[in-house]
Amino acid sequence: MINLLWLLLPVAAAAGWFAAKRNSKKHPEAFWDYSSQFHAGLNVLLNDTQGKPETLFSEFSNIDNDTADTHLALGNLYRRRGEMDRAIVMHQSLVDNNGLDKDIRAAARYELARDYDSAGLLDRSEKEFKELLACGERTNEAYESLMQLHERERDWATAIALAEERESVTGESRFGLVAHYYCELATEALASGYTDEAKTLLAKAQSDNADGARAYLMLASLAFDNGDYAEAIEHYERVEEQRPELMPEIITRWFESLSRINDEAALRRFIDHVRARKNAYSVIRSSRSVIERLDGAQTADAFFIDQILKRPSLKGLRDWAHDQLDKSKPEERDKVQVMCAMLDTVVEEKPGYQCSSCGFSGNEFHWRCPSCGNWDSVHTIIGAEGE
Ligand SMILES: [Zn+2]
Repeated sequence: MINLLWLLLPVAAAAGWFAAKRNSKKHPEAFWDYSSQFHAGLNVLLNDTQGKPETLFSEFSNIDNDTADTHLALGNLYRRRGEMDRAIVMHQSLVDNNGLDKDIRAAARYELARDYDSAGLLDRSEKEFKELLACGERTNEAYESLMQLHERERDWATAIALAEERESVTGESRFGLVAHYYCELATEALASGYTDEAKTLLAKAQSDNADGARAYLMLASLAFDNGDYAEAIEHYERVEEQRPELMPEIITRWFESLSRINDEAALRRFIDHVRARKNAYSVIRSSRSVIERLDGAQTADAFFIDQILKRPSLKGLRDWAHDQLDKSKPEERDKVQVMCAMLDTVVEEKPGYQCSSCGFSGNEFHWRCPSCGNWDSVHTIIGAEGE
């Protein structure tokens, strides 16, 4: 945090200096008054004492449109330091200053709403964002922030209403976002056992984003659980079209569905489809076991080796090493076992998914990154260390 402070202070200081310099053209003596008081306040901040820098800054009876930016930045600095009370005091004083331009007061209100949000005072944060909407100021940012606030609260119905209102007011929308909200509601409905309601919500998700993989994935699961395997296969095909990297999530049930419809020709066509390309390791492993059942171990092993050489991965190497255990000579078995144990550990330690926005990684797939809150930014890790 201190490092951040060191980085930000020169910016804040420079902003204040230039603001004061502009002001000094009108009132030359003001520059030196401003400068000395400003740096006294910064010194308190820098030394991180128990002093109250806001009392120093609040002595600026001449906060005007030129110096307000500096106060705005200092309020933000307090928020980043976790000093919410000071950030709120600083930003609220700008909001209440009728002498400032409308856009500066709107900027301060936006930052005040963020202060309340960071402090966990969500009702107050929501009230300030709504105030901005009522005034027609910073509309898109206010809608975005309000939607994110309700996403964190898992209040999907309000998030949908806000997204629709935003589109009607500003003409702007984020593609596929409302579909995610409907899918979240459908997930909750399913958890409560309301399957029909979930289907209605998924239909709404598809009306927002006809190509959204998530709704197809959920419909496939519903069809599978209901024994409608042909329907599940259709949905899995759409998932693969839209998000091929989701294959590891669906391959087991896709093969299971193909097996259940008792259409060996369709099953073989699908295997040929897999065989003709490079695949994620989970797809290779699932295909291998199906081929073994259909055509025997030798054909399945040949497929496996061909595929892991096309797309080498630690997981492939680990499973190949385990295959060698039974085939190895008794005097070599200990060495192969050590190799297997090491590969098991290495593979276990590798995360399966990573967020392309913030770098968050883990072993569970998320439609919304639990770290940065972005949608569709968590992806399966592809390559030697992943799939
Ligand atoms: Zn993220």
